Amino acid sequence: MKRILLVLTAFSFSVFLLSFTGKNTAYLPKATIKTLVIDPGHGGIDPGARGSFSNEADVSLAVSLKFGKAIEKEFPDVKIVYTRTTDIMPGNKRTKDEGLRYRADLANSSGGDLFIAIHCNSAAPVRHKEFTGYKTGTVNVGKGKKKRKVAKKIPQYRHWTSPSAATGTETYIWALSKNDAKVNSVNQTEYFGEIDSTGSTALELPDPSDPAEKARMLIYAQQYFRKSLNLAEMVEKGFQAQGRVYRGGVKQRNDKGIWVLQATGMPSILVEIGFISNKEEEDYINSDKGQEEIVENLVNAFRSYKHKLESKTINTTP
Ligand SMILES: [Zn+2]
Repeated sequence: MKRILLVLTAFSFSVFLLSFTGKNTAYLPKATIKTLVIDPGHGGIDPGARGSFSNEADVSLAVSLKFGKAIEKEFPDVKIVYTRTTDIMPGNKRTKDEGLRYRADLANSSGGDLFIAIHCNSAAPVRHKEFTGYKTGTVNVGKGKKKRKVAKKIPQYRHWTSPSAATGTETYIWALSKNDAKVNSVNQTEYFGEIDSTGSTALELPDPSDPAEKARMLIYAQQYFRKSLNLAEMVEKGFQAQGRVYRGGVKQRNDKGIWVLQATGMPSILVEIGFISNKEEEDYINSDKGQEEIVENLVNAFRSYKHKLESKTINTTP
């Protein structure tokens, strides 16, 4: 009798287990966000992009801390992990690459469910060239004995630069592949020091021929891409609703500048909250009003994203 009972118990237990692993999602524990990793870009030895009176590291940190506080207030159950809370390179690392690696390792070891990096954008000054008239000079013509000097009109130009007019927000996710039709390639000439290469070879981009990297890219593709895209879209739409300049929506890249996004085993986005190279926008992202609006939008997006996750309305298949 005891043995039959034991067999029956084992059987019902396996049916119970199957109900968890099967297609019936009603029995699956609900997905949610328990740990949010907030990553203020740059810091310490790396001030990031410079504006006329502020730098990217400081502005990103201020907005990140305000964002974390707002999340804590509304979602006391969500654990916040900051990659830095002061003006240091995360983990007090000595290079940008080591800092990036530390950010990713910290996010992964804290069991983060979502990674949000906060940065400021910057655009190169525009170069100008204007013809101002001719100056009469002399040039050498002919060879040997026939060599002589002749008068010649030499065109004169004035060169100067002016700040780029680029403004607005951009939210990045890691691109699935460089050939992906959805990849929104960014005009290289428009960008400056910010999101571009860290300038060393210590951080390798994923090599699809390496089986371990391939597996990780597949996991990203299957589990995180849609979620990251979904959140990034909400962030961009929110900025648009706030009247910020629209720069074409969510952008996908897979260069070293956003290496950290694919190195974290969780959905991840990188938000460029505005152009520090534009005087007006530099004022805005430094102001209480500006920072409050940015934080409000990030919290709204977080709330919607969390709600969608909990109600399972995000399609996770790319
Ligand atoms: Zn940056």
